[in-house]
Amino acid sequence: MNDSARNNADGTGAEGSPVGTGDGTRAVRAGLPEPVKHEPTLPGPVFAAHFHLPGEPTGPYTYGRDENPTWTHLERAIGELEAPARDDVETLVFASGMAAISSVLFSQLRAGDTAVLPDDGYQVLPLVRAQLEAYGIEVRTAPTGGDSQLDVLDGAKLLWIETPSNPGLDVCDVRRLVDAAHARGALVAVDNTLATPLGQRPLELGADFSVASGTKQLTGHGDILLGYVAGRDTGAMTAVRRWRKIVGAIPGPMEAWLAHRSIATLQLRVDRQNATALKVAEALSARPEVTGLRYPGLPDDPSYRIASQQMLRFGCVVSFTLPTRARADRFLDALRLVDDATSFGGVRSTAERRGRWGGDAVPEGFIRLSVGAEDPEDLVADLLRALEESAD
Ligand SMILES: *Cc1c(COP(=O)(O)O)cnc(C)c1O
Repeated sequence: MNDSARNNADGTGAEGSPVGTGDGTRAVRAGLPEPVKHEPTLPGPVFAAHFHLPGEPTGPYTYGRDENPTWTHLERAIGELEAPARDDVETLVFASGMAAISSVLFSQLRAGDTAVLPDDGYQVLPLVRAQLEAYGIEVRTAPTGGDSQLDVLDGAKLLWIETPSNPGLDVCDVRRLVDAAHARGALVAVDNTLATPLGQRPLELGADFSVASGTKQLTGHGDILLGYVAGRDTGAMTAVRRWRKIVGAIPGPMEAWLAHRSIATLQLRVDRQNATALKVAEALSARPEVTGLRYPGLPDDPSYRIASQQMLRFGCVVSFTLPTRARADRFLDALRLVDDATSFGGVRSTAERRGRWGGDAVPEGFIRLSVGAEDPEDLVADLLRALEESAD
């Protein structure tokens, strides 16, 4: 772990409230307004399509597609976690991770521009690529591992990084890619979904945008969709905000409030889930039928060296391959504490045979396992039992 990166959160919150240096302290206090007598600690969701607005229509709260006080609290919370002690970062929340991703790509790129995407990233990126190309934007792709996106950067306007990549769990050197991109005048966005802001702070690694799906471990209960963009460049963020207004990809106040409530337990969930993920990876590594095991926190994982330099925590996702599709299906069927479901990051463990979707270049027996907050012994026992029971 990188302690200097972890312990530099010694500043003050957006409203001048003192913020502790520990991640748990920051998580429970993130984005809370100044205490007001007889008011709740975290004000409830504000359900409003419009606000009283006599006279000149000045902000902040005019119409519900532009701004909402419940978003404001949540945006402050996420901003405090993504960029502790910095007041030059703006955060915007969206209806989903894809809404956030699209808002960056489609607000920053014009016909004739070139964008570099990973070729092993989130499974909707190929659809995004096709849409960008339909708008006359050239798209190049390269793998996340080995910093291979460096090779196709010349002339690019924007570099999109996903590290660790989903579902392959490769890691690239964000600082190195940022330096190369900035030297060529390109903006850099990092998909921070898998790491969460407690696992990685892309803006401190030099990126222009940290973008994520809040649907996953950030909110962690598998009950809402959410996305966000945090960025340093005022002009670029103004364009992102304008895009949100144009497409209306906004979260409901209830979702925003639930997300904020969930962030209070982020450090508890992340530390529990990630510690168990390491134990699970260690248990799986001893099994002969498991191949291609990946977890960035395993010291012999190909991602470990760079991950341990730039990440504060290694995530709750473990991936591995079982010999055949049939074996993988039987294994998933035999699990009792792990739901066969997509997505990841929730307090209840989930796993799926990733190849069932098509799209990802993975073997038929490839499993993506998201480790939840169950007792580690129970979970490891369930996984090992299911491996035994699913044997030929
Ligand atoms: C899930 C996911 C997304 C998309 O988020 P939604 O909230 O489902 O729209 C984007 N990037 C990564 C890495 C993801 O895992």
